[in-house]
Amino acid sequence: MLRQLRSGMQALTAGLRAHCASASAAAATVGGSGLVRSQAYIGGRWVDASGSALFPVQDPASGRQLVEVADCGPREAKEAVRAADCSLPSWRAATSKERSNLLRKWYDLIIKNKDELARLITAENGKPLQEAFSEILYAASFVEWFSEEARRVYGDVVPASSPNRRILILKQPIGVVSIITPWNFPSAMLTRKAGAALAVGCTVVVKPAEDTPLSALALAELADQAGIPAGVFNVIPSSRSNTPAVGEVLCTDPLVAAISFTGSTATGKILLRHACDTVKKASMELGGLAPFIVFDSADLDLAVAGALASKFRNSGQTCVCANRFLVQEGIHDAFVEKMVKAMQRDLRVGSGFDDQTTQGPLINERAVQKVENQISDAVSRGACIVTGGKRHSFGATFFEPTLLSNVTTDMLCAQEETFGPLAPVLKFQTEEEAITIANAANVGLAGYFYSRDYAQIWRVAEQLEVGIVGVNEGLLSTPEAPFGGVKQSGLGREGSKYGVDEYLEIKYVCFGSL
Ligand code: ADP
Repeated sequence: MLRQLRSGMQALTAGLRAHCASASAAAATVGGSGLVRSQAYIGGRWVDASGSALFPVQDPASGRQLVEVADCGPREAKEAVRAADCSLPSWRAATSKERSNLLRKWYDLIIKNKDELARLITAENGKPLQEAFSEILYAASFVEWFSEEARRVYGDVVPASSPNRRILILKQPIGVVSIITPWNFPSAMLTRKAGAALAVGCTVVVKPAEDTPLSALALAELADQAGIPAGVFNVIPSSRSNTPAVGEVLCTDPLVAAISFTGSTATGKILLRHACDTVKKASMELGGLAPFIVFDSADLDLAVAGALASKFRNSGQTCVCANRFLVQEGIHDAFVEKMVKAMQRDLRVGSGFDDQTTQGPLINERAVQKVENQISDAVSRGACIVTGGKRHSFGATFFEPTLLSNVTTDMLCAQEETFGPLAPVLKFQTEEEAITIANAANVGLAGYFYSRDYAQIWRVAEQLEVGIVGVNEGLLSTPEAPFGGVKQSGLGREGSKYGVDEYLEIKYVCFGSL
């Protein structure tokens, strides 16, 4: 462990000398952080992967290596599942108050270390520090919320139809849960799942995204400091090449009762296939194609502000990002003009460690190519680039905030999730047409619309085929409300009072012959 950390530090120190300012900031953050862990956390111990295998974590802004972490394979995945299974009986038997107290301690430690955790996110994910800081507060809010929900997992006593019977309904933890998290919210997606699972008495194995394992490992360190017992919370980082084999263990091992995943729809389908042989419960938070509809009756300034917030947060790399702007013909030109002005005035591309920056890098080269491909496809079919349109001069993974007009439904950017700073605008004439376009997708996570017509607000909110609707609002996520989608956007809900249901079994107990 020490040897690994030391070689990581040497690389970072060398990096510090050679780097441009932004890369240096990322390297310095990781080098100077007391929460950096490079090993896996299994059964309450920090351990190497077999053969001391390592994989690099890169600064997405420069592509340079920040540190190397343990590259876990199927063997470590099985060990982690076994550790989670061994600790299950005692964790599930703890009182809800005991579990609640430990989660509260974890929450307190996350808040105490919020600056350092935020800097880790910016270092490995690239998002601006202010957004990373917000993510930590958001991540912590799930631990706080579920520390409170832990004590409210009520069953029922149901009136029976025969006089000599009583019907009791118990809610019990499902067991060991495998959690696979994405890189776009490396801390919050973990706590939204693990917070709920731990609260109700499940034990977990977390596989963080290969791009961003440091946040998950830092949270493991704080869970350890909080006194969460050994084996209850395990983290196994793994490289992109080891991930399919690790994922297979996590979704097929008979000791695992449920899986919880956030990521692309394509990967979700692979995991569901793995899970079907042993009939595991699956909670899936998959991709979206959010429509953002601006009706003629909208407050234009409000719509532009909401559009900017929804589209460009995390450089467009969120699953609830507005993906398709549908704008009614009467307001269309004014909307495009104001939106472009706002983008040019308010969005600043640069290093996440620069406090003027609103747009950090995309996560990797693949992500940039996807945006480029969507733009060239759209332009070849008649779309116009109104602003942006190419990589930003700041660096290869940075992209200019882009707005396309004249977009039509046959273009890739109107059909597949972008995950980048691209706002395609489609013009429509009637409410019916907008709803038809919005609902033509095979996914349905978030949807937004702006209108001041009350009757229209009810109609559209009810008709949109999505799990989350923003009415005159561009930012919706909060621990109190259920997060999740319909169609191929997933299964189940996270956060809110419903979030614990993913990790509970319902047991009917019949008392007879009374
Ligand atoms: P992206 O393409 O944006 O990285 P993914 O859905 O591939 O989105 O990644 C989300 C998470 O799923 C990450 O933790 C990633 O490592 C994981 N993942 C990707 N492929 C697999 C797989 N075959 N089995 C298990 N996990 C996977």
